[in-house]
Amino acid sequence: NAVIGIVGGGQLGRMSAVAASRLGYKTHILTQDAHGPAAQVCSAITLGAYDDPAALDAFAKAVDVVTFEFENISADALDRLSRHCPVRPSGNILRISQDRLAEKTFLAEAGVPLAPWHAVTDHASLHAAADRLGFPLILKTTRNGYDGKGQRRVQNVAELDEAFAALAPHPLVAEGMVDFACELSVMVARGTDGTIQCFDTVLNHHWHGILDLTLAPAPVPESVAEEAGRLAALIAERFDLVGIMGVEMFLVRDGSLMVNEVAPRPHNSGHWSMDACAQDQFDMHIRAVAGLPLPHATRHSDAVMKNLVGPEDMALWPAILANPGHIPHLYGKKEAREGRKMGHVNILFPYGALPGDWGIQAALGPLATKCASPPPADED
Ligand code: ATP
Ligand code: MG
Ligand code: MG
Repeated sequence: NAVIGIVGGGQLGRMSAVAASRLGYKTHILTQDAHGPAAQVCSAITLGAYDDPAALDAFAKAVDVVTFEFENISADALDRLSRHCPVRPSGNILRISQDRLAEKTFLAEAGVPLAPWHAVTDHASLHAAADRLGFPLILKTTRNGYDGKGQRRVQNVAELDEAFAALAPHPLVAEGMVDFACELSVMVARGTDGTIQCFDTVLNHHWHGILDLTLAPAPVPESVAEEAGRLAALIAERFDLVGIMGVEMFLVRDGSLMVNEVAPRPHNSGHWSMDACAQDQFDMHIRAVAGLPLPHATRHSDAVMKNLVGPEDMALWPAILANPGHIPHLYGKKEAREGRKMGHVNILFPYGALPGDWGIQAALGPLATKCASPPPADED
């Protein structure tokens, strides 16, 4: 049976490997952590740095196709792997999506609506950005940001230089602060035959810059949910995607959508699909990567996904186990450090019966601690 290579050893790799094994595939991961979430469930491991040519070559020779579960590897490394076997999604998609500037340029050219933005490399472009965007604005590093790290909110000109100094010397992009009604996302998959499948549009609540809750489906008008799916499909098409991609969006108060960023891999905001769909985002991803026809991304239940982050949420583990309606997924991480994603819980509702905020909080019980009114992302 074929071997699927996965670059990266985190929870997305773990859940991809489980999905692959259900389809009869073996998985071989490239990681630096022999005991991480993916290493615990895969068939084989190449231990090595992601930029070590010898490790890359040994890994690629041992597998039939390669995918990746996180984005902070070099696209050049993926290109090297592609000398030996197909890499899905392609290194070129990663090259674009791991650089916010390249990503925004690409999406804008595709006609995708974005928040206003301006490249920032020095003091002149910093102040030009502020003149153009006004305040408040957000300064973000173009690369390596995740969970709201590598970004600063700037309220006025006095904070501008301070934020710039804090993020320097990295290349930056400034974005106008969007006064959004809510945040939405879509998981979109595309097969080797060009077929596209979109999971339902969902609503995401963040807490201190980290995803806390996902509501599936998003309680938004049908036309908004459809437009989100249309944008995600357009993006997948333009990228010539093979695999799955998460597309994060803002729903602006006037009803329009703006794309925030994309991630060419399974995504935290798609974890609800593991229990609310016959074929979840990992099944979909593995089928695409393996060159199989894609199944329909059909949802059979409404769902709420609650992330388990850090020691605070893990303290609720006994309560989760005591509630038969809480479907737990743990990632096998040893230490529950602050801000670390340890697992998630899915709670299902009959199709079409997702309750409102109070009903969701009631269903979450003690897990509802963070979801009342999430404050803005931490500025560290
Ligand atoms: P992720 O973990 O999703 O990769 P990230 O570090 O790449 O996060 P973003 O997704 O760009 O960061 O931003 C994190 C959060 O900050 C967003 O989900 C949103 O809540 C808020 N945010 C980002 N950009 C803007 C903006 N232009 N206007 C308003 N809010 C924003
Ligand atoms: Mg991001
Ligand atoms: Mg994001």
